[in-house]
Amino acid sequence: SPFVCRTSSRYHRLSRIRPRSRRGQDSGAPQPARAGPLLGRDAATPRSYSRRVTTRQHPPPHLRPIRTAELLAVGSELTAGETRDTNGGELARALSLQGVSVRRIIALPDDLALVTASFAEALATVDVVVSTGGLGPTPDDLTREAVSAAIGEAPEVDADQQAWLRDLFARRGMALPALNLKQAWLIPSATAIPNPNGTAPGWWVDRPDGRVAILLPGPPREMRPMWRDWVVPRLRERGLGDGRLFRTLRTYGIGESRVAELLGEPMLRAANPVVATYARADWLDARISTVDERDAGGRG
Ligand code: AMP
Ligand code: MG
Repeated sequence: SPFVCRTSSRYHRLSRIRPRSRRGQDSGAPQPARAGPLLGRDAATPRSYSRRVTTRQHPPPHLRPIRTAELLAVGSELTAGETRDTNGGELARALSLQGVSVRRIIALPDDLALVTASFAEALATVDVVVSTGGLGPTPDDLTREAVSAAIGEAPEVDADQQAWLRDLFARRGMALPALNLKQAWLIPSATAIPNPNGTAPGWWVDRPDGRVAILLPGPPREMRPMWRDWVVPRLRERGLGDGRLFRTLRTYGIGESRVAELLGEPMLRAANPVVATYARADWLDARISTVDERDAGGRG
């Protein structure tokens, strides 16, 4: 049938595409998919940090490549069902397209014990944990407290961050409110991530084992540019993803079980490539993901 022909020829082409190099540098290979709003410009890897950024601790000597991730969406408005977690999906898509395996996306209320435990668990499990939310000035925003507790470091007001905040408020003709001082906090293993669209800088936290925690503010218009312009280039330097490539074949007018039959059980059970079908409202997607085994070193 024409369906089978199309699938197999595209599949064949997919298998010949060279994966991106392991270090995440541009190998000139075709990009796996259209760049979304969070993927950024490939070439843009700023060499110099902004003057406002204080590097408190050098990155660990062995740079751990970033292959697995967990995403935490912090805010009681999310678990109360008043706000939908869109950050998680956007970050998951950006990471997945880079070949990073997202293990979990968790929404959490503003609860210090819960958020602390989630950071501790994620930092024992995955290469990078990215949180959004809980960086506001009020006491219910406690993501900084949580990650500090999880790794056993005490936050202190950072002079550079405080000067930047004071400036920001001065330009609005205001004194720096005492509550906002916690937005100038840092811990020894955190580097501030500049926020061009708000008062909450993010944190890039380096662990001695090379894992990274990234704290970003909740509002998408603040989170997105910080992720795209500051975080992604630095994650790329660590080696982002595992050379995994994805293709989604969208099919119309054919049922899921028929597609499964055509693909055959061996293909649907294979570990590499992983082929999965997803029935949508009006079509069916077959998603194929493959990793270059010469490069994978036996990772799953
Ligand atoms: P924050 O002060 O950093 O906790 O975030 C404040 C605002 O960001 C919330 O009131 C929401 O409007 C928005 N926000 C927080 N988390 C998310 C999320 N996961 N997805 C979409 N919007 C969010
Ligand atoms: Mg909040």
